[in-house]
Amino acid sequence: MSPNRSTPRKVVIVGAGAVGATFAYALAQSGAANQITLIDNNEKLAEGQVADLSHGLPYYPSVSIESGTAKDYGDAQVIVITAGSAQRSGETRLDLLKRNASIIEGIMDDIIEQQSRAIVVVVTNPVDVLTQVALRHSRWSRGHIFGSGTVLDSARFRYFISQEMGIDVKSVHAYILGEHGDSELPAWSLTNLGGVSIQQYVASNGLQEQWPKRSQEIFEDVKNSAYHIIDYKGATNFAVGQALVRIVQAILRDSNSVLTVSVMLKGEYGLEDICLSVPCIVSKDGIERVLVANLSEAEQQALHHSASVLKESMAGLQE
Ligand code: NAD
Repeated sequence: MSPNRSTPRKVVIVGAGAVGATFAYALAQSGAANQITLIDNNEKLAEGQVADLSHGLPYYPSVSIESGTAKDYGDAQVIVITAGSAQRSGETRLDLLKRNASIIEGIMDDIIEQQSRAIVVVVTNPVDVLTQVALRHSRWSRGHIFGSGTVLDSARFRYFISQEMGIDVKSVHAYILGEHGDSELPAWSLTNLGGVSIQQYVASNGLQEQWPKRSQEIFEDVKNSAYHIIDYKGATNFAVGQALVRIVQAILRDSNSVLTVSVMLKGEYGLEDICLSVPCIVSKDGIERVLVANLSEAEQQALHHSASVLKESMAGLQE
């Protein structure tokens, strides 16, 4: 059997919960996809979400929205995996990780069985470890399977800097690197406001004195965002939905966008055999290239620390 040809701009979303459904809604509004298919173990949930989304069709750009089955992987151009299960009471993080890893492996088996040529974007947490699980299990290339990584965290970072400086968030260029989680790091050395480095901006606006404390607070706000939002409303879904639209648009529109997705490193930044986020060029073939940025010594060390935290999780998974 020859591999399936993909249907242009068909996006399959696995997991129709808070993240999957919000992403579907944002993607429909973006006009980037021709076909959006939702798959969930809970078939009624998928059908309910599809019905609700479809009733907005008179007001979206043209798009078909359907519930589907594993067969839909066959001709998908992009598959976005948000399927997962929440932590059960008394369950450790490692138990949860093992359960989500087996969900991802099951989905990858189905994708492979359908001879799919889709680009696979993993979103389920812990996203870096599960991206690595999907890669190992499928033996696909690192360009074809990657994680949503810190695209969301980088958006949060840009937002908090823009609020602090009173500058349009679109003119703030800033990246969070490493794990999508507690060991992530802010790449201050790459941060600029319309081309003016953050250090220069701080100096020329007389902000040097408070900056060491404020910059740390901004990063803490980024890192703790998910905890706060989950505490208040039970899940994060809107910003991650937009971040996923950004990633999927880069693939569907072949735009060579620089995004901090979670990629398997092969020597870049002195790191090997670990998935974490660094700036990558994303196009119709997935990750085209990993960019090697000129990080400060401290940032380079923090990236290595993040990699060692992730390697521990990977080792735990294999026990
Ligand atoms: P949710 O519980 O609302 O939805 C998950 C859905 O997955 C459920 O509807 C469930 O039925 C479905 N599911 C479980 N196993 C399945 C399988 N084998 N096949 C198909 N569907 C299956 O959870 P959510 O709030 O939507 O979050 C989903 C995941 O996304 C979580 O792991 C969450 O931590 C993660 N997340 C990641 C980011 C990021 O930036 N990477 C941001 C937010 C949330």
